[in-house]
Amino acid sequence: MTLFEKIVARQIPSEIVHETEDVIAFRDIAPKAPTHVLVVPKRVIPRIAEAKADDAPLLGKLLLAVAEVARKLGLEQGGYRVVINNGRDGGETVPHLHLHVLGGRPLAWPPG
Ligand code: AMP
Repeated sequence: MTLFEKIVARQIPSEIVHETEDVIAFRDIAPKAPTHVLVVPKRVIPRIAEAKADDAPLLGKLLLAVAEVARKLGLEQGGYRVVINNGRDGGETVPHLHLHVLGGRPLAWPPG
């Protein structure tokens, strides 16, 4: 099981902020902004590079969940950033696709 599958199964505690049949969102354990949430598909896609055409509906649901989470957490007015880290140079550390939602302060661009 991936770390995030264990969170879905409640084997590892987390602060869940949104959940549907297909998607879960919880606060990142090491937040990089005042609000930092991970939006994760319950079915494992290891990383975006390995997504297949069949995954398109689930990928769409993930993006809609991002917008829903941002609304719920009051990020809509100030804005927020959505990040997917893919592979070594992208900074991926957990091989289970996840979208970072970061907000609550101005974010620098370009990222480091
Ligand atoms: P990435 O580096 O893009 O693969 O992102 C993995 C993220 O998972 C990091 O931001 C970690 O802080 C976060 N993370 C690791 N373990 C946990 C956990 N148990 N609960 C919540 N977030 C976690």
